[in-house]
Amino acid sequence: MKNRKISLTLAVVFALVLTVCDNGGGGNKTVVCTCNPKEHYLPCTCEAAGTAKCTCVVIPRGYISEYQTNVQIPIWQKAGVTNAQAIGVTTALTAAWNTSSIVTDSDKNKLKEKVQEVWIVKTATDQTWKRDIDVVDNKAIIKVQYDCPYIDNIFNDLADNLSSHGL
Ligand SMILES: [Zn+2]
Ligand SMILES: [Zn+2]
Repeated sequence: MKNRKISLTLAVVFALVLTVCDNGGGGNKTVVCTCNPKEHYLPCTCEAAGTAKCTCVVIPRGYISEYQTNVQIPIWQKAGVTNAQAIGVTTALTAAWNTSSIVTDSDKNKLKEKVQEVWIVKTATDQTWKRDIDVVDNKAIIKVQYDCPYIDNIFNDLADNLSSHGL
């Protein structure tokens, strides 16, 4: 009986604490996701961003299709890159990939299962080629600077130099 009283008391105290937090806890209750549409190419910046109340989804700018598979390689726009720049690079990357005189089937075959994703970035580390090849989990992440002048060469160059990237 004594134990029961203690747990009841604890339950009341706990409920009071919760009530106090709800009413005075920095306005979490009023934070709402005001985004429309709820899909973005860049991470959400609404006041609910990062909380469970924001249901926004970050989506890729586009995809390239891996050679002879159903794998879709996403092209992501990263922070600092404008929408116009991202659209331009996505169009150029997709056109290069889909033009067999630029990226041959042989190149695509070599790249099969080797590319995880493509990022469009504001500044690449490699300022000679204005693109970086990072390898994560044995697959390449190709980071293309928004104004890279060598987009046509990125895929076939990677296909020719997979081993130098440890792929
Ligand atoms: Zn939101
Ligand atoms: Zn949002």
